[in-house]
Amino acid sequence: MKVSFPYMGTTVVYKKLLEMLGHEVIMPPKPTQKTINLGVKYSPEFACFPLKVIMGSYFEAIDKGAEVIITSGGHGPCRAGFYERVHRSILEAEGHFVDFIVFDSMFRDRKTFIKNVKRLKGKTPLHKVAHALWTVYDMIGKLDKLEIEVQRIRAHEVNRGETTRIWEHIQKMFDKAYTRGALRNAYNKGRKMLAAIELNPVEEENRIRIGIVGEIYVVMEDSINMKMEQLLNSLGAEVERSQYLSQWVTYNMLPKWINWSHEKHVLKLSDPYLPIQIGGHAKQSVGQIVDYSLRGFDGVVHLMPFGCLPELVSQSIIPKITEDFGIPVLTISLDEQSGIANNQTRVEAFIDLVKNKHKERLNQADKNINKSTQQVSAIG
Ligand code: SF4
Repeated sequence: MKVSFPYMGTTVVYKKLLEMLGHEVIMPPKPTQKTINLGVKYSPEFACFPLKVIMGSYFEAIDKGAEVIITSGGHGPCRAGFYERVHRSILEAEGHFVDFIVFDSMFRDRKTFIKNVKRLKGKTPLHKVAHALWTVYDMIGKLDKLEIEVQRIRAHEVNRGETTRIWEHIQKMFDKAYTRGALRNAYNKGRKMLAAIELNPVEEENRIRIGIVGEIYVVMEDSINMKMEQLLNSLGAEVERSQYLSQWVTYNMLPKWINWSHEKHVLKLSDPYLPIQIGGHAKQSVGQIVDYSLRGFDGVVHLMPFGCLPELVSQSIIPKITEDFGIPVLTISLDEQSGIANNQTRVEAFIDLVKNKHKERLNQADKNINKSTQQVSAIG
């Protein structure tokens, strides 16, 4: 089968799994302005931004020869569950009759999940399927570990752009690795390459840490979020995303009794503010902001597609979390109309504010120490 999928984050992972199952993979191009224009042209105007970008990606993949599209589903009161229907009918109206395979959590609809796996598996023997799944799961975990390091050290690199160049090279190394041994080599080599990057020295207490939360597609896909991680890093802030692929897979695909994902903890933290699931990743966004506050992060950037109902709800809860925990949060709404310069200025101003708050905190801590020292000497 000539298969394709929506472009989102480290796509090398999806490509690897499908190749190992014996499919011809049609790589969707990384979304560009052309992709967005295509998606906007054919999608309903009121649709959320990810639907439009993915729509554009499908047209581009079909142009390259894709016959089957593999995607994730959705549930709850948000539009994700309708993506496949909407995309399919728009494509058919334009004369493209491709097939869709939609994956959702195996615990929601086991029958459909197994049916999908059987379709994807084709004639590949079961032991090879197990090997492919295990290899790719291993690969996702390793790539995420390296990416977390990238998001930290890029804030302090001496030669601007070096970390991103090396990160792209590392992903290419993983793309060529098909065995656990080759993956291990790629991982070890990647770690060494990252460790060799020259960094400006920074005291532990002077590190600025920013979390990124929000709707999964705009959080994970940097081509449509103004390369937010790189932007924050270039302003001297270390970054951590609320969503990583390994986390998503662990939470959605593993049985509860071996599911150690951090997401379970995050969802619990959101309960006092948002006790029910309202679709998308709104509950996770709320819980993550609390989690970042508890972990001492300096601020949070909240990304939401314009018109995304779940994230609109989480946006309305954020002032209460800021009041309770004192953490500054900047919400940025993204769509095809987003003004890059305007948003960049907002992010720069936000980081200035965060840095000032950080300094104030350090000064206050120093003052407290001096005061205690004076009191101790007075008693002595
Ligand atoms: S979470 Fe928001 S952007 Fe994503 S499908 Fe639902 S409504 Fe649309």
